[in-house]
Amino acid sequence: MSLSNKVVIVTGASSGIGAAIAVAFSSAGAHVAIVGRNETKLSDVAAKCTNPLVIIADVTKEKDARAVIDKTIKKFGKLDVLINNAGLTVPASILQGDMMKAYDTIMDINVRAVVQLTTLAAPHLVKTKGNIVNISSVAGQLAPVYPSTINYNMSKAAVTHFGKCAAVEFAEHGVRVNTVSPGPVYTDFLENSKSSIKWEQYKAINVLKRVSEPDEIADLVLFLASDKARGITGSEFVSDNGTCIKRLA
Ligand code: NDP
Repeated sequence: MSLSNKVVIVTGASSGIGAAIAVAFSSAGAHVAIVGRNETKLSDVAAKCTNPLVIIADVTKEKDARAVIDKTIKKFGKLDVLINNAGLTVPASILQGDMMKAYDTIMDINVRAVVQLTTLAAPHLVKTKGNIVNISSVAGQLAPVYPSTINYNMSKAAVTHFGKCAAVEFAEHGVRVNTVSPGPVYTDFLENSKSSIKWEQYKAINVLKRVSEPDEIADLVLFLASDKARGITGSEFVSDNGTCIKRLA
């Protein structure tokens, strides 16, 4: 797949799935703007990309979100693709009484920042008839296996639905919006989120009994962002080792 000369913003590119997406786009000939808060980790990812624009930003802050779009336009002159990937979870449950602080943190990054960046990117994407891929999760389709992830599951349901709604509004401008919903993927996600859940536990809740690698998700994102997917919008693509069918069985 060639994405030659396309300009792509990847949020949460300092780690895991976002890092794999950034490297994949760069290898396919795109100009990448890589976004995250951790400068050291972003530098490591930048070293694997060709002439990336590195943007240190907390995308929950409006000022930073504006800077992400402005710096990208200033350097590359246009925007073709926005990948809203940055996200996290904070363990909390209704009966532990720690719900609301975790709710605000999770909704700010997993939902509000996605809506904010989409809004700020919109005029630029309309100009290029570009597209957006949001990274949601199969958690958005399922009731939580572990009660500590209830806020996360809700946030991902919102992101998936936002993708469908945004696709409708953007359609007349030729801008596509799609969602990728991974199941478990080996990244720093659980460690970064201070979760006590172990990756091995996720193997037991999918039919293929495995956890994905980040590049599996990156390949799917690349396809959706490319012209090969020119007829696809408002869709959700699941790559979950059969987590959903196991839950239905
Ligand atoms: P990681 O923890 O490895 O990466 C998360 C990324 O999000 C980091 O690059 C982090 O960068 C960034 N980030 C978090 N908060 C902010 C913020 N306020 N501003 C800017 N960047 C931020 O996790 P994954 O790679 O696994 O997660 C990527 C996405 O995939 C998330 O949306 C997650 O919900 C989703 N997902 C992951 C699954 C998995 O099993 N791993 C399964 C399903 C979905 P920094 O710390 O530098 O700011």
